[in-house]
This record gives sequence, C-alpha cells and structure tokens, in this order.
Amino acid sequence: MMTVRGLRKRFGDTEVIQDVDLDIHEGEVVVVIGPSGSGKSTLIRCLNALEPATAGEIMLTGSNSSRESMARLRDEVGMVFQDYTLFSHLSILRNMTLAPMKLRGLSRADAEAMAMKLLERVGLEHKAQAMPAELSGGQQQRVAIVRALAMQPRLMLFDEPTSALDPETVNEVLQVMKELAAEGMTMVVVTHEMGFAREVADRAIFFDGGKIVECAAPTQLFSAPREERTRQFLTHVL
Ligand code: ATP
Ligand code: MG
Repeated sequence: MMTVRGLRKRFGDTEVIQDVDLDIHEGEVVVVIGPSGSGKSTLIRCLNALEPATAGEIMLTGSNSSRESMARLRDEVGMVFQDYTLFSHLSILRNMTLAPMKLRGLSRADAEAMAMKLLERVGLEHKAQAMPAELSGGQQQRVAIVRALAMQPRLMLFDEPTSALDPETVNEVLQVMKELAAEGMTMVVVTHEMGFAREVADRAIFFDGGKIVECAAPTQLFSAPREERTRQFLTHVL
C-alpha cells in the first residue's frame, strides 16, 4: 500500500529523519513508539506530505489516481493529530462537510448525509449542531477521526491521538480506532498505549534518533526486544 525508500528530512543542519525504509501493507496496523524528539511526528507528517521530504521516495501503490505523488498522498492519506484539530468556529456538522464539499465536490445534502452516518457510528449524531468547544476532548477526537474518514482515505495516520486526553476518555477513542482496524483500515499509529498496540498492531516500530531501530510483532518488541536501546526505552514506558 505504501512504500518508503531512503526517506530523509532535514531542518536546517539537523537531520530529523535519517534514511528510513518502510513498507506498509494493505490492512496492516503499524504502531510507532519512541522518545520525545526522535522524529515520530515528522515521519508521520512526511507520510501524508504535510512536510516535504528532503530526500527519498514515498509511494502509494495500487492507487488509481493519476495525480502527482504529493497530491495523491494528501488526497488518499487521512490524519488525526494529538490536539483536536477541529475548526473551532464551525459546528461539528460543518467540520465534517467542509472538505468533502470543497475537495470532493459533494453536494451539501450528500455531504451532510454522509457526515450524519459517520457521526452515528461514533455515537455523536446528537452533537451535529454543537460547536467543538461544547464537546469533551474524547468526543472531539472521535469527530476528528470520522472527519478524516469522510474523505475516504486508504491509509490513516494517527499522531498520539490520545495523549492530550483525560485518562477516562482515552478508551472511547481507542475503541473507535480498534473498530477501524477490525474493519481492515490500514493504519500507522504513533502511541504509547501499549495495551492498544498489543491488541491491535501487526507490527511495532521503535523509532529513535530519526531511525527505525527495531521493527517486530508487538509482543516480541515489548517482551523481548533485540536492541538495547529499545529495552532501555521500554523500561521507562512500561
Ligand atoms: P514527541 O514525542 O515529543 O512528539 P517526536 O518524536 O514527534 O517527539 P518531532 O516532533 O518529529 O519528534 O521532532 C523531531 C525533531 O525535529 C525535534 O528535535 C524537533 O525540535 C525538530 N523539529 C520538528 N519540527 C520542526 C520544524 N518545523 N522546524 C525545525 N525543527 C523541527
Ligand atoms: Mg510528536
């Protein structure tokens, strides 16, 4: 589904991503863990072309689109950030319909019908007319997820989607992500939620110093890491 080869990203003199190769397969859930500042967010941002890579290639395979690759990444890859990124001056419904109407050319009626279905899916159809500030953090994050789904992405990226939430609302967001995974969505998730990773991920990546240090099945990576750096990191988070 996605092939990354020789990816590098430099900010000034600092190389934040150093020669990353990665293959993400259809229907796979890949979890990325790693210390603060190791480049996880930068990696994720490169994968949907929010951040231009300094070198290397990111290819979406099996895409029917004839558009150039940066446009295709933006178009076919959905993203959910740590801080709820809803437009605060727009209602939940408008948040949901804006991009499908503007970028997909849906009529308002069609966009609203799809939005209501997606909101129902996360139990928030009754909040359609509310403003983002009237929702809890977990509710806002559930909207952010289905808002991304409204663009019918082939791949979903999550950058610490629960780390800004109150502990009691973390699970409602993880639950939506689990359901998405069970439906076969291809996902790359930066998270330190080890329970989620163990339960849902096909592979876990330990990312440090701009590199993939280790990549394995989550049980293997968390219980019996091969690399000393992974082991050290895990003693801090487990
Ligand atoms: P955290 O766990 O704290 O979210 P992270 O692994 O996501 O960290 P990044 O946010 O990708 O790390 O940052 C990696 C490095 O790149 C950091 O040293 C950061 O200061 C630097 N960096 C990130 N974005 C920029 C930018 N736009 N300009 C300059 N430096 C940047
Ligand atoms: Mg980050």
